[in-house]
Amino acid sequence: MNVFKFGGASVKDANGIRNVAEIISKYRSDELVVVVSATGKTTNALEQVIQEKFENKTNALQLLRKIRQDHEVIIQDLFNSLPAELLRSINEYFVEGEWVIDEDREMAYDYVYDQIIGIGELVSSQILASYLLEKGIKTKCIDARSMIITDDTWREGRIQWTSTNAKIRDNCNSILRDNIVVLTQGFIGSTAENNTVSLGREGSDYTAAIISAALEAQSMTIWKDVPGVLTADPKVFDNVSKLDHLSFLEAIEMTYYGAKVIHPKTIQPLKNKNIPLYVKSFLHPEKEGTLIFGEIDRDYPPIVVLESNQSLVHFSSKDLSFIAEDHLARLFGLFDKFRIKVNVMRNTAISFTVCIQYDKAKLNSLIEKVQDLFTVIVEPNLDLYTIRHCNDSMLPRLLEEKIVIMEERIRKTVQVVVKSAPVIIHKKDHH
Ligand code: ADP
Ligand code: ASP
Ligand code: MG
Repeated sequence: MNVFKFGGASVKDANGIRNVAEIISKYRSDELVVVVSATGKTTNALEQVIQEKFENKTNALQLLRKIRQDHEVIIQDLFNSLPAELLRSINEYFVEGEWVIDEDREMAYDYVYDQIIGIGELVSSQILASYLLEKGIKTKCIDARSMIITDDTWREGRIQWTSTNAKIRDNCNSILRDNIVVLTQGFIGSTAENNTVSLGREGSDYTAAIISAALEAQSMTIWKDVPGVLTADPKVFDNVSKLDHLSFLEAIEMTYYGAKVIHPKTIQPLKNKNIPLYVKSFLHPEKEGTLIFGEIDRDYPPIVVLESNQSLVHFSSKDLSFIAEDHLARLFGLFDKFRIKVNVMRNTAISFTVCIQYDKAKLNSLIEKVQDLFTVIVEPNLDLYTIRHCNDSMLPRLLEEKIVIMEERIRKTVQVVVKSAPVIIHKKDHH
């Protein structure tokens, strides 16, 4: 059996969904599980709804209604006669969303987030399932929340592997045996108490990998708007080229440093079960794409990963005492508690510096907890470049005209923190 994952870009409109159905019918194996994300930028729009729930409920309801209308446009385009069952289930998901928004009880932000954010996946999967059925592809949509079981770390549910593996097999095996396509949502799961949990932004790749591992798939394919994994993000850099093959290890490193093309947690479950991962273009499904598999590294060209919106946080001891292991233990305990990921770090005698994603709320919570011991200085508006397999000519070219704040080098990997280029606003001339 095989697993296909279709991301938001592939199902962004009715034509996208038609194309996905075509890929499934043309490239499927008899036993196939399909994991689908929310359409286009729906998850971003739902994040705005959640934000507004805490500020202005009427706005939140209006924004949710707009998301609903956008989906209704897709449905009207796709179906000649609207499938009643589809309309009923979609109505249910949106009404439940409205209830959560209307709820006056005080609830933690991250909990509320998870109760609303999955609507995008729930709705897109129902639309795709109905469309596949109409095209004569036998399909059963299974709610991912009955398979992916996590703890209650809201917005980043940690997988409970034993129950998750068992539930995936229980739900899928008999359906697959009948050559019926199993369709499910990426990105969401459920706690043992039946609360919806999300797996972190872009988490649908991870869902597909969890399912692939549980069912010991022959392969997993993620279908993208790019030809495969490239040497850098083509939306940011010129002169990128496709990597035909990556080892699991190289893929883990690349995605860990923030290459947006695959969610960083995706590779490990596949590597453990030795399942090849293909990254292919949904625009040119016949083309080769990238294969991620195996242990052997050939020579790679330089691979560049850019993470924007970074900040350097400098901690220095107030009494000029050395920053010692006990201080570091305390800092790292807090990074863990507030789920702050350290991208680069460096220490001197009385100071310690980390490069982290800029997040005002998290930084404030952190500073509040350490200000008795440390003076904290935050330097925002930075970019972090990570270059794997860096060569001598690469770095000067990349850093041309950039103000470098910090540089770290270990074996094949160079990391450079630079000041973000100011946004240039092109003003229109009015003559
Ligand atoms: P999905 O539709 O699955 O959510 P994403 O938009 O999350 O797809 O990921 C695909 C995008 O990842 C590409 O359009 C590209 O801009 C970006 N990207 C970043 N780094 C890379 C890379 N090294 N190779 C290919 N694409 C990359
Ligand atoms: N829809 C979710 C997101 O945009 C999950 C995913 O696409 O992987 O983050
Ligand atoms: Mg995505």
